[in-house]
Amino acid sequence: MSAGIVTVSYIGASVLFILALGGLSNQETARRGNLYGMIGMGLALIATLIGIVTANYGVLLFGAVIGGFVGWILAKKVEMTQMPELVAILHSLVGLAAVLVGYANFMDHNIALTGVDKTIHDVETYIGILIGALTFSGSIIAFLKLSAKIGGSPLMLPARHWLNLGLLILALWFGNDFLNESATGGGMVPLILMTIVALLFGVHMVMAIGGADMPVVVSMLNSYSGWAAAATGFMLNNDLLIVVGALVGSSGAILSYIMCRAMNRKFLSVIAGGFGTTAGSSTPAAEGDAGEVIAVQADEVADMLLDAREVMIIPGYGMAVAQAQHTVYELTKQLRDKKINVRFGIHPVAGRMPGHMNVLLAEAKVPYDIVFEMDEINEDFPNVDVSIVIGANDIVNPAAQDEPNSPIAGMPVLEPWKGKTTIVLKRGMATGYAGVDNPLFYKENTRMLFGDAKDSIDAVLKAVSN
Ligand code: NDP
Repeated sequence: MSAGIVTVSYIGASVLFILALGGLSNQETARRGNLYGMIGMGLALIATLIGIVTANYGVLLFGAVIGGFVGWILAKKVEMTQMPELVAILHSLVGLAAVLVGYANFMDHNIALTGVDKTIHDVETYIGILIGALTFSGSIIAFLKLSAKIGGSPLMLPARHWLNLGLLILALWFGNDFLNESATGGGMVPLILMTIVALLFGVHMVMAIGGADMPVVVSMLNSYSGWAAAATGFMLNNDLLIVVGALVGSSGAILSYIMCRAMNRKFLSVIAGGFGTTAGSSTPAAEGDAGEVIAVQADEVADMLLDAREVMIIPGYGMAVAQAQHTVYELTKQLRDKKINVRFGIHPVAGRMPGHMNVLLAEAKVPYDIVFEMDEINEDFPNVDVSIVIGANDIVNPAAQDEPNSPIAGMPVLEPWKGKTTIVLKRGMATGYAGVDNPLFYKENTRMLFGDAKDSIDAVLKAVSN
């Protein structure tokens, strides 16, 4: 394949990736966006395999078979609720790839450059390894936190900002050494030392970020993995990798900004870490401390729904755990057939990944025109007769507004307590991801329906249909 055809294919693939991102920004066009992305990736792969790779097809096939097999097993095994962890660990692989390519590039004696070309090449290698290493270790910590293998509360080392600054200065110092062969004589030694510093920085950065701010971390690491891929593109002189990396990097950065705005956080304060330390306990408040909760049965919930004219469904992480979305839609259809207006209110950080609830509702074929974002719906709660909170907790926690010392203080939340009645479906009194108690459960107009969300909705559906 000639270089011209490869370039044209790469331009075609880049355009398809841009269309894919455009498509993914809206639920109705997301499926088409995915298709564009797949075609783009197929085109890119074929052009690279035929046009760029000229030897070592055996090694390539070996790697592709092993990688493909592991990916296939993982994709089969992973539950929908484990997607965020999977995404985090996949980000770590992009980081690792950038590190390995960087080292391979540095050790490749066929690249004989001099003068400015050599400096540019060395800077690319250094930055590629730096971003790759911190993406790698940061993503592994994010994986461990998201899968609850380590605690979610932020690690608050004394003088942690100084530690970060120290690591940054060290990385710059080793960079100078690497380029100018000053202190340690340049070459491999400063590169390895910088890699260790970057790995430590990645660990420290994500360890310092509190539970409730994890959505920002996920999107931030997404962005870093993009920049790591772009750096790899520079090292390999591959234009498509640079374009794709920059697309992922900048869209991840935009997503981080959107997540920060959704949580009312400043990006820099999130990176500096430390939220989620002041108040908050990971154990539920003893009953009586915060008041009594009023438990109800499924048939009572059915009666309340049948008496209502306006119903708001607020899904959260527990709906994903229970896989209750299909039953929830069945109930929605039944109520709408009875001329009850049912809508869905979606919080931007509900669940465990951006757009988590939208994906579940789309899977259950809930029509998009009854699904509303928090900003569109929050003012309507005074007119809502019954809100059903399905396995959600932090996103409906009034403490975010009322308690300045709460770890989630300032985060905008859905406000079902402003409606007539709120029904909360959950298994017990456990806290949500941020580990803070929720005063909503003790409010006078709140009723608790305890049990697995799917079982509870099944029972309500049965009572409504009778
Ligand atoms: P939460 O984690 O706050 O609460 C979920 C609730 O669901 C729990 O209190 C749990 O209570 C209940 N639950 C769990 N399983 C079931 C089940 N089978 N049936 C019924 N209830 C169940 O979820 P939210 O969606 O309200 O909030 C999301 C949180 O996750 C926020 O803090 C957000 O910052 C964080 N986060 C979000 C990410 C994102 O990108 N969206 C990424 C990372 C973190 P019980 O055990 O008593 O049943």
